[in-house]
Amino acid sequence: MDIVLLHRNLRIKDNEALYYGSQNQKYLVIYLFDKDYWNSNGKSSIQFQFAYDCLVSLDNELKELRSNIHIFEGNLYSLQEWIIRNYPKANIHFNHSTDIDYFRSQLNSFKQFFKANDQFHTYSDHGIQLDNFDRDNWSKHWHKIMDQPLKLNPKANLHWLDADIPTLNKFDPKIKDHIPLNMQIQKGGSLEANRLLDSFLFERCEGYSKKMSSPIDAENSCSRLSPHIAFGSISVRQIYQKLTDFFPVSNHKSDLNSFRKRLYWHCHFIQKLETEPELEFNSMHSMCDELRPNFDSEIVERWIQGKTGFPFLDACILYLKEYGWINFRMRAMIMSFASYNLWQPWQKTSPLLAKLFVDYEPGIHISQVQMQSGVTGINLPRIYSVSKQSMDHDINANWIKRVIPELQSSDNESIHYANLGKQYIEPITDLRKSSKAAREKIWSIRSDIKFKNIAKKVYLKHGSRMRRRRTA
Ligand SMILES: Cc1cc2nc3c(=O)[nH]c(=O)nc-3n(C[C@H](O)[C@H](O)[C@H](O)COP(=O)(O)OP(=O)(O)OC[C@H]3O[C@@H](n4cnc5c(N)ncnc54)[C@H](O)[C@@H]3O)c2cc1C
Repeated sequence: MDIVLLHRNLRIKDNEALYYGSQNQKYLVIYLFDKDYWNSNGKSSIQFQFAYDCLVSLDNELKELRSNIHIFEGNLYSLQEWIIRNYPKANIHFNHSTDIDYFRSQLNSFKQFFKANDQFHTYSDHGIQLDNFDRDNWSKHWHKIMDQPLKLNPKANLHWLDADIPTLNKFDPKIKDHIPLNMQIQKGGSLEANRLLDSFLFERCEGYSKKMSSPIDAENSCSRLSPHIAFGSISVRQIYQKLTDFFPVSNHKSDLNSFRKRLYWHCHFIQKLETEPELEFNSMHSMCDELRPNFDSEIVERWIQGKTGFPFLDACILYLKEYGWINFRMRAMIMSFASYNLWQPWQKTSPLLAKLFVDYEPGIHISQVQMQSGVTGINLPRIYSVSKQSMDHDINANWIKRVIPELQSSDNESIHYANLGKQYIEPITDLRKSSKAAREKIWSIRSDIKFKNIAKKVYLKHGSRMRRRRTA
């Protein structure tokens, strides 16, 4: 008997756990539904909604193989007991996934228990390197992984297998209780992932490198694959190989090169959390945790509700709250504002922001949050000016006015400079003064020799060795 335990690799193609778990043609596919997981650090019901779409799509494909997804409700400890009771000799197949402490600590104990009897088989995830990890050769290995042939589809079960836990169909109404209404988030599933990949490569990628910075253009000009990659409805290798095949005949090679770099960054960032799981709670540079000792729940609440009084920033947050996605530049600006202008500890703001992203990927999110808060020690601090971003990306303020209709009759300059008097919420801080104060604090700690010595160690552990480095 084999058990394939699903977590975030919700696809049939290029799925090692499914492939190896199906070889004896007698396998149960189990998805663990743990309510506490979906309520823990940065996780949220919109992410679950996306995962659910992926499960439905995978379940449909599995039916062709005389298999379907069974749902185990509980945590990994209770699943362990259930397996011991029902299938004590089963081999368990699992695609590794770099995740938050809540999941990782349970998984470690689950793994240790079944590994002792040689029953647990882990397969690596995307381009994350689990064994013999070496930063100097990481990039070379990543390319090797991407060039490997895709895993073949799983084999069919010889017979339908039953278990004393419900199938996805039966469990469906219960799961739906956890799905929020009234949000316009992306649809999950492998069909949708492949559709997006094709339309990006063949139609939408023109001008990608420039358009990705604007919240208005990026909606259509970015690939929009992030939640699919996060929940594995497509593998990074599938994307990489299709891109490589199409690249020679594309008229937009420089755009596609930028896209290819980002696939690499995806894994590069996740590898940091995989190597040092404490980054979920601690700054990459140990001296930076002393920087922001005071947490002000009221101003953080105004920030995450999009009520800062800075129209462009508020519009970005409100847009994110409605669609569960916004482009990179605006994510960086939102985070930079909380960490520099409001001077709030990233540990408090990061999960609130993560909950709004359908594509929440802890490895990328936590690394980026730390970069945009100036606490990695290996990246130059960058404080985004909300007014500049506002003028650069929405000079006529049309987008802002669409998202915040109450500003319809306000003049553009007042909108960009958040100088609206009684027409809008009073700005939460003085942009220039707070940026200046932040710059001084962050640079005073960086000039300390002790800081530099620690930063060198951080670089050796996490820094990218790519020559033209923008990732760090
Ligand atoms: C504060 C902050 C938090 C972020 N949190 C997340 C997150 O939780 N999940 C997430 O997937 N991305 C995150 N990003 C990175 C980036 O904003 C998103 O990957 C991107 O906007 C997703 O849209 P897309 O798929 O259309 O991207 P595209 O531009 O089409 O890129 C293709 C893929 O490359 C990867 N990628 C793109 N940019 C980056 C980057 N800078 N670093 C690492 N990988 C990248 C993603 O997997 C993305 O899907 C964050 C960025 C910041 C500044």
